[in-house]
Amino acid sequence: MRGKTLPILAPGIAGFRKDPSAGHFVPQHKDERLVATHCCYCGVQCGMYLRVSEDGRVFGVEPRNHDINKLKLCPKGVTAYQQVNHVDRLTAPLMRSSRSEPLREVSWDEALDHVVSEIRRIQKTYGRDAMAVYSGSSLTTEKCYLMGKFARVALGSKHIDYNGRLCMVSAAAANKKAFGVDRAANPWSDMLDTDVILLLGANVGECFPVATQYFWGARDRGARLITVDPRETPIARTADYHVPVRPGTDAAFCNGLLHVIEREGLIDEEFIAARTTGWEAVRDTVRSYTPERVGNICGLRPELIEQVALTWGRAKNAMAFHARGIEHHIQGVDNCLTVINLVLATGQIGKRGAGYGTITGQGNGQGGREHGQKADQLPGQRMIEDPDARAHICKVWGITDDELPRAGTSAVEMVHQAEAGEIKGWLGICNNPMVSMPNFDRIARGYDSLEFHCQIDFFLSETCERADVVLPGTCWAEDEGISTNAEGRVIKYNKAAEPPGQARPDWWIVCEIARRLGRYPEKFDFSSSREIFEELRIASAGGLADYSGMTYERIEQAEGIFWPCPSIEHPGTPRLFEERFAHPDGRARFHAVEWRPPAEEVDPVFPMRLTTGRTVAHYLSGNQTRRISALVQQTPRPWVEVHPSLGYRNGDPIKVVTRRGSATYPALVVSTIREDTAFIPYHWAGAAAANLMTVDALDPTSRIPEFKVCACRIEQGHEIDDPPPPPVPPGSQIYESAGVIDRGQPSAPQGRGTGRG
Ligand code: SF4
Repeated sequence: MRGKTLPILAPGIAGFRKDPSAGHFVPQHKDERLVATHCCYCGVQCGMYLRVSEDGRVFGVEPRNHDINKLKLCPKGVTAYQQVNHVDRLTAPLMRSSRSEPLREVSWDEALDHVVSEIRRIQKTYGRDAMAVYSGSSLTTEKCYLMGKFARVALGSKHIDYNGRLCMVSAAAANKKAFGVDRAANPWSDMLDTDVILLLGANVGECFPVATQYFWGARDRGARLITVDPRETPIARTADYHVPVRPGTDAAFCNGLLHVIEREGLIDEEFIAARTTGWEAVRDTVRSYTPERVGNICGLRPELIEQVALTWGRAKNAMAFHARGIEHHIQGVDNCLTVINLVLATGQIGKRGAGYGTITGQGNGQGGREHGQKADQLPGQRMIEDPDARAHICKVWGITDDELPRAGTSAVEMVHQAEAGEIKGWLGICNNPMVSMPNFDRIARGYDSLEFHCQIDFFLSETCERADVVLPGTCWAEDEGISTNAEGRVIKYNKAAEPPGQARPDWWIVCEIARRLGRYPEKFDFSSSREIFEELRIASAGGLADYSGMTYERIEQAEGIFWPCPSIEHPGTPRLFEERFAHPDGRARFHAVEWRPPAEEVDPVFPMRLTTGRTVAHYLSGNQTRRISALVQQTPRPWVEVHPSLGYRNGDPIKVVTRRGSATYPALVVSTIREDTAFIPYHWAGAAAANLMTVDALDPTSRIPEFKVCACRIEQGHEIDDPPPPPVPPGSQIYESAGVIDRGQPSAPQGRGTGRG
């Protein structure tokens, strides 16, 4: 605890008393406040209390007995509060006159005047679309909405996208194609009524730890769990069947399942006839995906494919979930569609205990992609090229159709456009492409080509470090606003502390730039998140993601409201598709998919497959978690995970080489990964960044990069590449967390072994 010691009122179980009427914790000190809010990290969005001292400092956390997490938090959740008063926080605007100079503190007026004059110069010289906005999905939905409006109204630029482009967009596109709407079909509590769960490419135990309770709850009631992943991840160890699929072959695997199910007469013909279209083409396609053929493609025993197919096909109720493992591919959308085909062909959707969903990686991955910061969308999950959608939003924003830009390009493409000289100016918020985007060297060239680059953040990320202007924003505990979790449940963050130093709410910064730009200053005259939310409600009304019936008070009272919620009397919609799908005819669409190989096939020079992912102690680009001592101690550095058959010992330096780059990591030798696959966690920067090696091939529909597979080779290395410590503001000391450069021992998350030979 920081600050002064507070007197303890009364001891209780584990040091805490429960309020018997509410089932919630109560303050332990007479001057302490508990602020009910939610975790800032993953798509579970666990409820928590932030503990706030009399002088307004956030000094601790307790889990909330919220419907989502029921008193549980994971290692990231219990330490999230340590961001708030962290010594690395940005507390003043930073600026430099040239890239060769260091950043220096300046006043808000000097920083904002420079930002505005550079935006004006670039747009006057090169046109409105020469300015790009790159936003994020860890922002509240109010801020996401504001970023879309800012780009299209204040800048008049079509170039806006968000970092969910690196995350959930394949699932989103597949959902829209198949169901007509992009949202999980069920609340997670439906898992307690299912008989079989198929989990593909989702390391639930590490990436969405508290969601594990739903999977284990289902198993406690007798449900069978099938996991599909090249690695036997923590949740896979508890599965009835684990399918160690070869990276890049998921569509073939799912087609193989449907082949067996159709062959055995286990399809739901009544459901197909009444509620879907397009089955015949899928049936004809999967007939060639015999277990033997699929076994060859996927590196699996044909018997395992038969067993899994029959387990799903014979289930009374079944649910399928997936995450980035099948989505981060050039066939990411198709992979998701093959899972949906399976669900539709067996009628496993639209009822309690039967359904489908993607598990969003970012806290507000769902809300952040449906209110207008996506390149092709407007608020309410409206498509920007839809004339009716354009008319509705133009009316809300008070602009004409001519003034509303058309669809822009995706995030990685925007950086490539910067490299090509088409985009000259950049405003980034809540993202860190210098760690998170694929094929790092090309991304760095793109950013270096910009004439002007401004980042808004609350820590100095590796991307901020290269910017011309850095504006200090707020962390999640310093403002209020809504977020939508992976179920489609809208929850509310509450403010617990004031921003440090001169840091300002992100919405204030963006509105201030808009007001100073002067194109439509009156349209950014917001004075609180609540005011933005009230406009968002109107903008979303009548859209697929209709939030118009929600209020801050209703959301909190109900412990979250599932959208759509079109009126103030409406209870929200936890389960979708009970009567109809969202296409105009009410029917879901099958999509026939042929498996295609990854962008890079293995060959004699690069004979293995490299895959990347997350580990439990860190979050996305690590800008938040690589500064939290307990998390750094738990997992100080990246490693390369390889199979024992390759002959390495734990801790050996292994050099991983792809066509784009190489890095040397300590080995973590485990029998839980395929022999033909190497895995690196991607949260670190510099010479140890996994994205030095990944490929920037994109899915043709979702434009998601193929993070999950590229060709590589591994060889005995020499010097292990150390990850650099996270950047800090000028004049600050580098935060010496224990073990930042500990080179001896690879991390051992979730009991995967000690890492020592
Ligand atoms: S599971 Fe996700 S939301 Fe819950 S505490 Fe962990 S990181 Fe936070």
